[in-house]
Amino acid sequence: MALTGIQIFKLLPKTNCKECGVPTCLAFAMNLASGKAELDSCPYVSDEAKEKLAEASAPPIRPVALGNGVRKATTGGETVLYRHEKTFFNPTLLAAIVPSDIDPGELDTTLKKYNAFQYERVGLNLRPELLVVKDVGNGADAFAAVAEKIAKESEFNLVLMTEDLSVMKAGVEVTSFKRPLLYAATEANADDMGTLAKENDLPIAIKADSVDALQPLSEKLTGMGIKDIVLDSGARTPKQAFEDQIAIRRAALKASNRALGFPTITLPCEMASNLDMETLLAGMFIAKYGGIVVLSEFATESLFPLLLERLNIFTDPQRPMTVTEGIFEIGNPDETSPILVTTNFALTYFIVSGEIESSKVSAWLLIKDSEGLSVLTAWAAGKFGGDDVGMFVKKSGIMDKVSHTELIIPGYAAAIAGDIEEELPGWTITVGPREAAHLPAFLKAK
Ligand code: SF4
Repeated sequence: MALTGIQIFKLLPKTNCKECGVPTCLAFAMNLASGKAELDSCPYVSDEAKEKLAEASAPPIRPVALGNGVRKATTGGETVLYRHEKTFFNPTLLAAIVPSDIDPGELDTTLKKYNAFQYERVGLNLRPELLVVKDVGNGADAFAAVAEKIAKESEFNLVLMTEDLSVMKAGVEVTSFKRPLLYAATEANADDMGTLAKENDLPIAIKADSVDALQPLSEKLTGMGIKDIVLDSGARTPKQAFEDQIAIRRAALKASNRALGFPTITLPCEMASNLDMETLLAGMFIAKYGGIVVLSEFATESLFPLLLERLNIFTDPQRPMTVTEGIFEIGNPDETSPILVTTNFALTYFIVSGEIESSKVSAWLLIKDSEGLSVLTAWAAGKFGGDDVGMFVKKSGIMDKVSHTELIIPGYAAAIAGDIEEELPGWTITVGPREAAHLPAFLKAK
């Protein structure tokens, strides 16, 4: 039975040395109890305590890291069935297939194209993480050459996809420095593939033909001392694959089934005959509960919506995304440049600042803390009132930067204009457009 944070705390050294990355042993104990930390992070736990804690402290779904360095990506580590219960932690990793018979020139072009698939959104860089080198039967050397080139010349992490041990060995030899995922151990090759993964300390995927058949394979590999496992139930119809995702997640979280307590890999590329359908299926697996989703290729019209969906699903619903309160310079504003004010909801900030930038009119953008609410919601909730905005403008320091006294407020907050005027005597309060998209025309016309 799982131990509580306090029960775990009693077994820790209680020195508060911070080496585990949190300030106290109690905080570490709480993180262990909720599956957000691993016992290995504390180097001072006694062997006796380790034994008692090992079972109780392991997260219900093990986080599995692929890759090394700044592009290291983690999947799994989830603790809830539904996002609203807490949050989902590690975004589904997006992957595309590269066949082992790809022409070297085409591989160069593909890598260049895929490397460019990066999108800025709310201050984040959204991009896919994985390429899957798929063995198409043209030999170990060709497989290794493609894998090596991707490992050395791109920022993508790797999945090596073959059930042939000699081909996998060739791939591992040239890419193990990048910590690839080995796909896959099956009933037929589990001993050999497991040994290869164990010897090179690499994560390995298990492929079976049902959820039930996954369990003995998972137990076999964990028995060999392998910790980082990814599960493929083998289903290749959308309905069965969807059901399997839910069955695996429920078994891990609700039935504490350790054999299924690992992230999953799903393959829409093997379930559909065109990218549109693959994309729909990928969207389904991002929501429930694919740890890795493999597409046949990356194309911007498919990838961008999936990255946005992923951002939404894996954003903590209890903490709105915000930007820091303060003065932001858009372009090269001077003392005559317009001053605009809005709320600190990240999406509001990035949309408004983007529209001002596209207007090519340099401006001062004042961001007022509204606890992460958008303009209309903040106004309705009393977080963006006239008095508050007026006070904020006074304290912000903007008056030292400009020689005029005009403030542009969002159109949706027109009702607070009078209160701001009272708080800022002598200022002209101009009501701007309701929609940020109309800002360029508005600013150019001023
Ligand atoms: Fe306590 Fe261990 Fe963390 Fe140090 S590393 S604070 S002893 S839990």
